[in-house]
Amino acid sequence: MPAAEESSNKTALERRLSNLTVQTMENFCTVKGIGGVSGLLKKDLIEAIIHLSNPEDLEDFLSSQEADYLMESFRKAAKWGKSDLLVRIADKSSARELRAEFNGLDVGLRRVYYIDFVNINDPRKARTGCECDDSQERGLFCPHQMAVLLRALAEGKISLKDWKGPMTAELKSSILAMFPEA
Ligand SMILES: [Zn+2]
Repeated sequence: MPAAEESSNKTALERRLSNLTVQTMENFCTVKGIGGVSGLLKKDLIEAIIHLSNPEDLEDFLSSQEADYLMESFRKAAKWGKSDLLVRIADKSSARELRAEFNGLDVGLRRVYYIDFVNINDPRKARTGCECDDSQERGLFCPHQMAVLLRALAEGKISLKDWKGPMTAELKSSILAMFPEA
């Protein structure tokens, strides 16, 4: 592959790995028989994993960690969902562009997050974002965004078939158990 593409892929891998704890990465190395990594600084551990692991094993591992985070977001959002004031969806929101406010004060969080889902029914342009660190710095689909997704489904602003944002089979069946009509 061209050098530029290789380096941007590597950066994406580095970013995804940096979202994990050293302990989680060391466990992966133990399971996959990758030696000589104990006691490394996080930055060096990430480099070692990228160089020493089988790319398919690494992708499976990262995907499963990301799927776990998504379900954790779902569990939090499902618990928060009982408060009607928590998520306010802007009136003009649609399956193309949805803007919402997550008011965390009701659940003891100290601030309000503004959340945008843009072109959510177009897989090439789907973009989601929240103001929190998990979204801004780690690129993850945070519990605040999940709370907005659940509320938008409950209010019929969007349907599950239109949603082209983060999804796994486990998340989909959990959402359908909550909203059979979604
Ligand atoms: Zn967030």
